[in-house]
Amino acid sequence: MKDEYKMTIGLEIHAELKTKSKMFCGCINLPEEKSPNIYICPICMGHPGTLPVINKEAVKKVLLVGTALGSEIADFTEFDRKNYFYPDIPKGYQISQYKNPLVKGGSLVGVEITRVHLEEDTARSSHETPDMSLVDYNRAGVPLMELVTEPVIHSSEKAVEFAKEFQLLLQYLGVSDANMEKGEMRVEVNLSVSKTEDFGTKVEVKNINSFRAVGKAIDFEFDRQTTLLEKGEEVVQETRGWDENKEITFSQRLKESAHDYRYFEDPDLPKLIISEIPEFSKEELKKLLVELPEEKRKRLTNDFSLKPEDVEIYVGDREIGKFFESVAEGLSTYGAGIIKTASNYITSDILGLSKALGKYFTLEKITKENFIKLILMINKGNLSSRGAKDILKIMFETGGDPEIIANEKGLIQKNNTEEIKLMAEKILKENPMVVEEYKKGKESSLQFFIGQGMKETKGSINPEILKKIILELLQK
Ligand code: ADP
Ligand code: MG
Ligand code: ZN
Repeated sequence: MKDEYKMTIGLEIHAELKTKSKMFCGCINLPEEKSPNIYICPICMGHPGTLPVINKEAVKKVLLVGTALGSEIADFTEFDRKNYFYPDIPKGYQISQYKNPLVKGGSLVGVEITRVHLEEDTARSSHETPDMSLVDYNRAGVPLMELVTEPVIHSSEKAVEFAKEFQLLLQYLGVSDANMEKGEMRVEVNLSVSKTEDFGTKVEVKNINSFRAVGKAIDFEFDRQTTLLEKGEEVVQETRGWDENKEITFSQRLKESAHDYRYFEDPDLPKLIISEIPEFSKEELKKLLVELPEEKRKRLTNDFSLKPEDVEIYVGDREIGKFFESVAEGLSTYGAGIIKTASNYITSDILGLSKALGKYFTLEKITKENFIKLILMINKGNLSSRGAKDILKIMFETGGDPEIIANEKGLIQKNNTEEIKLMAEKILKENPMVVEEYKKGKESSLQFFIGQGMKETKGSINPEILKKIILELLQK
């Protein structure tokens, strides 16, 4: 039975760091550049006789990530050579870190982290042209951070949660844009299944380029591995690729072990004693920390008692979060209820209008001041919710002051009770039969009266007040 197996997952996540120059040379760090091979030099092309120089900014960014993860920052650290041949690694080795990574330990969303180290990205190869392969070295030597987790994840949901939270963390810290579609962040999944306390044989899955694919690849591997074991066959320790179209993993190569790479310390680079470098001190790094996603989640929840879905929207997209917070500040003297109303109009209406334009979030012509004014009008009961939505749409498309728009379109609801009372009396007088029915117990007649009132006034009165007055008149 497949559900007798426990699945164990460890993640390896690579992220390209957003630094001005490459990891070991002065070339511009712009891997998305379309013209091939323009940001290259003898160092990142691996020419003999050239010497690499460590990019301080890249080291600092990894240390900052370690600080945010509550990790141990190395005192002694060094770079190693990972030897293998492939056209995308012109030196015949990748400079990476093996024995002494910059960062060890720490945790995120309850997942323990093994290490975070720094290495260089490889060139980009393409095999799409018939009869030849092309290599673009713009990406060769771009600073690449690698995070490795402990094998402590047991579901695809948790794995995806971790990867998403790590992406947010990198974006908040400004160390990487971590866009998975662009390959700025790459997730590799190590997965094994076992019926006992012991680990099963692990398989590594590469080339996963979306969070959705992370989940799918995990589910596929769990199924594949348990099927093999149920048939009495064995899981082979190997590296598999993810086929995005077929939604399957496929065998790429047998897994090489660390000793295959003949790791050794790179003699071209100096060892680093982090404690001797003033700008890498704990105090200096702490100064660079910003509010982290989890802290923001807690603060928004505590301060505004928002729905968790709304909080997630503001944490996940900092631009919307910023807009919400500026609106909340503008409304701070009006109490918590109105801020929740404002939040609803942002997360349902403005996001809906944005989506219709094919965007995730855009204010178009809405200004913060006009938005706040609209929310205040809604709060006073001057607008029906339909009316408010119509005005917001006009503000979005053509801009303008909600009060002026509401007057122009006749959308202001009247709260003047005297006027509403006259209207209510008129409706009851014109419909004696319905009044009779109501008095005999037909409660739905009330809705009829309100409907009549809204129709006659073209929705310009407040239905709540109308309802209250009709009820009072019917009591008589
Ligand atoms: P390798 O040297 O083969 O790359 P590591 O020990 O460095 O292996 O681990 C790589 C990743 O695999 C880590 O994220 C680790 O948590 C994970 N891992 C290790 N053993 C297992 C296992 N039995 N099942 C699932 N993941 C594992
Ligand atoms: Mg590995
Ligand atoms: Zn270069």
